[in-house]
Amino acid sequence: MSPDHYLVPYPQRGSLLGDEELDALAEVVKSDLPLSGGVYRETFEQRFRDLIGTRHALSVTSGTVALSLAINLLDLRAGDEVIVTPQTYKATIQPLLDLPVNVRFCDVDPNTLNADPASIESLITRRTRAILIVHYGGLPADMDEIMRIARAHDIRVIEDCAHALGSVYRGRRPGALADIGCFSFHSSKNITTLGEGGMVTVNDDEWGNRLDRMRSNDSDAVFVRSPRRIGERDGARPWMLHAGNSYTHSCLEVRYSGTNATLPEPSAAVGIAQLGRLDRLVKRRRETAERISAVLARFPFARLIPEPPDVLNAYHLYTFFLDPSAGLDRDLIVERLAERGVQFQLRYFPLHLLPEWRARGHRLGECPVAEQMWFQQQINVPCQPSLSEEQVNTLLDSLDAVLTEAASSGSALASQ
Ligand SMILES: *Cc1c(COP(=O)(O)O)cnc(C)c1O
Repeated sequence: MSPDHYLVPYPQRGSLLGDEELDALAEVVKSDLPLSGGVYRETFEQRFRDLIGTRHALSVTSGTVALSLAINLLDLRAGDEVIVTPQTYKATIQPLLDLPVNVRFCDVDPNTLNADPASIESLITRRTRAILIVHYGGLPADMDEIMRIARAHDIRVIEDCAHALGSVYRGRRPGALADIGCFSFHSSKNITTLGEGGMVTVNDDEWGNRLDRMRSNDSDAVFVRSPRRIGERDGARPWMLHAGNSYTHSCLEVRYSGTNATLPEPSAAVGIAQLGRLDRLVKRRRETAERISAVLARFPFARLIPEPPDVLNAYHLYTFFLDPSAGLDRDLIVERLAERGVQFQLRYFPLHLLPEWRARGHRLGECPVAEQMWFQQQINVPCQPSLSEEQVNTLLDSLDAVLTEAASSGSALASQ
């Protein structure tokens, strides 16, 4: 069934686009500036640094590439251990599939689905090098505690901030709370750079330079400051040389493999416009979330994800839980809601149970809380800003009707 058939579609688009984005695109197209690696990218990155509060922000072509480059920075070696959350999108940890490292899945906090610091701590050994977490649904993870544990053991931490652009944690922004932050501007995310895009944030200058080299072909080699002089010395003509791409032996050795993952100028221009919209987008998500919460609050068996007073959830996902003591059948409830036109994609199947991780020895029972939440309790419903007033009302009415049925005694929605 295509999304048009649902009254309340699951967010294929997480953001809103309009005149600001069209004007930005028209400006780029009509200018005769280069379409890659130029002023729009620089401005987008500058605004991103200002917003997140890190020294470096490097745009790339997707969140997946951002995570892959971030993991590359860690210089992991055979036998190193990496602790990861199982409750995230598979791209968070995908690069680890190719590395000779031991992946340890921590469990999650049943109140938030974020990585549980106590579980992380229990997995730490002398070989632990890194921790990969996500801010699930936009609610920042317990970063003070995670960073305390990581610092005590000299372990690097990567934050997957794909859901958390617009979120706030104790006066600071996700992406600046650990060693490396990774963002996605995919169509479904809180802002988009025309369908695909990503960003890596770091404070460390060496890592910033290294990321810059890794994301483009040009800068992987040494920067040739004075082509003429080097050219003369080597018998090469200046026109043979190109900054960072010299064919002479005066060039320093290339130390890292790289890729070309630079964000194109039209995408960056749209990204600038989208950042200007971010507060409005998050406000709209939060208004919808508040209305969903108000409906759910009428049902004692619906457990909401709390928002601590010093934290702001950007609500990339609106997730709630069914209290297991109520004996309700989560799958049936989701199916009933779908019958009323609410489209579902439950996020996320626990990663350790995906075939690629099972093939590497991971198994059912490894993360009991994450498994119990996924198989029995968690439900996430649409709350993207593009939902019309009518669609939000349909969602609220559907939730109300289905949960009222579930609450009635002898309900068909009870599990057998
Ligand atoms: C979307 C997403 C990614 C991947 O981002 P892309 O831009 O689609 O490559 C990674 N992690 C999480 C948690 C995501 O939601």
